[in-house]
Amino acid sequence: MISRAQFDQIMVPNYAPGNVVPVKGKGSLVWDQEGNEYLDLSSGISVNALGHANPILVKAIQEQSEKLWHVSNILTNEPALELATKLCDLTFAEKVFFCNSGAEANEAALKLARRYAFDHYNEDKYEIISTINSFHGRTLFTVNVGGQPSYTQGFGPKPGGISHVPYNNLQAMEEAISEKTCAIIIEPLQGEGGVMPADADYLAGLRHLCDKHNALLIFDEVQTGVGRTGSFYAYQGFGVVPDILTSAKALGGGFPIGAMLTTTKVAESFSVGTHGSTYGGNPLACAVSLATVNEISKTEFLESVIKKGHAFQDFLNKMNEKFGLFEEVRGLGLLIGAPLKGEYIDRAGELMAKALEQNLMILIAGKNVLRFAPSLNITDAELKLAFEKIEATFESFCAASI
Ligand SMILES: *Cc1c(COP(=O)(O)O)cnc(C)c1O
Repeated sequence: MISRAQFDQIMVPNYAPGNVVPVKGKGSLVWDQEGNEYLDLSSGISVNALGHANPILVKAIQEQSEKLWHVSNILTNEPALELATKLCDLTFAEKVFFCNSGAEANEAALKLARRYAFDHYNEDKYEIISTINSFHGRTLFTVNVGGQPSYTQGFGPKPGGISHVPYNNLQAMEEAISEKTCAIIIEPLQGEGGVMPADADYLAGLRHLCDKHNALLIFDEVQTGVGRTGSFYAYQGFGVVPDILTSAKALGGGFPIGAMLTTTKVAESFSVGTHGSTYGGNPLACAVSLATVNEISKTEFLESVIKKGHAFQDFLNKMNEKFGLFEEVRGLGLLIGAPLKGEYIDRAGELMAKALEQNLMILIAGKNVLRFAPSLNITDAELKLAFEKIEATFESFCAASI
């Protein structure tokens, strides 16, 4: 019988998974090997935006799986073209590049920004400015662009031309940017860095700085994209348009896919042979993604995300009056963070473990922030159950802390 214990024997130890092994999911419910039922408020880290085993996505993958799985980029395919068309219809973008993950989408975006500066300006214009606490993936390039130094130690020489400034601080960016800057990369809301939304003025200021210095503005919407914040992409809620946008996580509704969206002018710097991915634009991935995007981009669907997000934040604020655990409750749509305060500082992991005792799956972002990222189509009944379990979690945590 397969069990969690085998993980330690057979898997590279870069993860420390919990003790239960999920075997089945439906909507926001998950069952483990013993048949125990869990309520999932993590959606696989902001991925399963339409819940587990959604019939619309099951149908999309079944139908495509009987037609065509893979052809590589020697040929194009219908699902990839349909999905690219839909993404351009929904956004500022005129051109799309497909890959398989968020890191790959950012890798493409950063390479493209450097190539664009090389093509249009000069070879010294390669500097990338990122923000402290940002997260952009785990490839050697993207992890170094990310602003979490503990992730980059001990991997040999670091790629150069990357600097970091404090988030939401326009003056710091103004001091850092120069004619050598080819791009600023930013999450409109820092996800892994603590569910920290940007100020709209800050993003507008970055747009202005980029224009002034001929640098490209890259929005990493790997976590915030595809309805998570209540807009299809978060930039649409902020009203600030990037030159390049990266998307992954929820884009495939649980099937791996990433995308980089940009304008025709910028895209031209990725001419034939400059970049590529064997799986990128895979028909199976694109078919599931298209079904996901068609569902989530509906106006009523996005409105429901905002409504549920408000209800969730109201509930957490009410809980905070009762238990006094948090400094504040923040976030956008159904990406919600609650930083712990006072004697509870840095104990988010303990709270996550307490939640699992209540058969509730939640997330943390760093050591101090509870993160909630439920499926966007979580039902009212599931939400009610979630609130009961959260209250029970806080109760048992506070009782154990006395
Ligand atoms: C998760 C995440 C990534 C990395 O995505 P992977 O699919 O794990 O490579 C990049 N940027 C942001 C903002 C993310 O949240």
